[in-house]
Amino acid sequence: MDDLAIIGSGPAGYTAGIYAGRANLKPVLFEGLESGGQLMLTTDVENYPGFDEGIMGPEMMQVFKKQAERFGTKILTETVNKIEKIEEGFKLTTSKDTYEFKSVIISSGASANWLGVKGEKELQGYGVSACATCDGFFFKDKNVIVVGLEQLQLTFGLILMKIWWALL
Ligand SMILES: Cc1cc2nc3c(=O)[nH]c(=O)nc-3n(C[C@H](O)[C@H](O)[C@H](O)COP(=O)(O)OP(=O)(O)OC[C@H]3O[C@@H](n4cnc5c(N)ncnc54)[C@H](O)[C@@H]3O)c2cc1C
Repeated sequence: MDDLAIIGSGPAGYTAGIYAGRANLKPVLFEGLESGGQLMLTTDVENYPGFDEGIMGPEMMQVFKKQAERFGTKILTETVNKIEKIEEGFKLTTSKDTYEFKSVIISSGASANWLGVKGEKELQGYGVSACATCDGFFFKDKNVIVVGLEQLQLTFGLILMKIWWALL
């Protein structure tokens, strides 16, 4: 039985891979359907320490992946469909196989609630954003349309950045 499974290949999954790999736990990381996670959808990322000039999201995830692999994290392109408790750990059923691990870290993240309107996909990272705290800075002093009034955090973030906004 292997020591550790990590579910998810976003920043949290790769970070777990780096730490667990360095702890000699020989982690197995299941990528899931969205290899690299949400940051694969974006362009400039400017708020991560260590990237003083900023970095494109997909490029950053390649660096994270490489760093996790450097410490022995085995990366499998499989989705975990089921986790069962067994006596000594956990049984994972994936899109390809079954595995047993002593421990499991679930870092399966989230996904933005996109509207599905015309142009939204093409303009992701080029004016259409799903993260106010991440991208608000890029739209300083610009007119911005915010969708989702109940998301107070988002609205507050924009007000704090002194961005003009209109509510839909
Ligand atoms: C458009 C956009 C721009 C953003 N810009 C920034 C930014 O500039 N700066 C910033 O700090 N943050 C930004 N964010 C937020 C950032 O992307 C998230 O906070 C971050 O990706 C969360 O990381 P995570 O590892 O928790 O999960 P995620 O990145 O959501 O990754 C989840 C992972 O879990 C996997 N997974 C899910 N279910 C399963 C399963 N059953 N089996 C196997 N794997 C599974 C998925 O395939 C994926 O790899 C942005 C988000 C979006 C959408």
